[in-house]
Amino acid sequence: MMQINGGCHCGEIEFEAEVDENKVIVCHCLDCQKLSGTAFRSVVVSEPDGVKFTKGQVKEYIKIAESGNQRAQGFCANCGSALYATSVEPLNRVYGIRAGCIEQRNLLTPKNQIWCRSAVPWLKDIADIPMYDTIPMK
Ligand SMILES: [Zn+2]
Ligand SMILES: [Zn+2]
Repeated sequence: MMQINGGCHCGEIEFEAEVDENKVIVCHCLDCQKLSGTAFRSVVVSEPDGVKFTKGQVKEYIKIAESGNQRAQGFCANCGSALYATSVEPLNRVYGIRAGCIEQRNLLTPKNQIWCRSAVPWLKDIADIPMYDTIPMK
């Protein structure tokens, strides 16, 4: 287990959590693409009720999947940062914390990728796309 902390972009929301560094996944599902606004999302899973919110008030959007399953998507209402997904029920919540809002994100290496059938087709070739340390000068 690993102790992590994180927060949203504007600083209104902060949290601490205990996570299993072996439960880091990349999700390529269409909902993650749309909710994140990008190609995929990396997530680490918390222990039941393993997240402590130390600052601010998280807003939740209830997503309804094709299956009818409901998932609460936590985000900052001020800056829009995506923070987690969890069960709609308030007890024994297991959080899928969005790795990008965790300070220790560079230590959270994904162990599995899911919903690969909807992964963007260019991803497997990403190492061949030109790379710059910052925005290149024109
Ligand atoms: Zn914020
Ligand atoms: Zn997903």
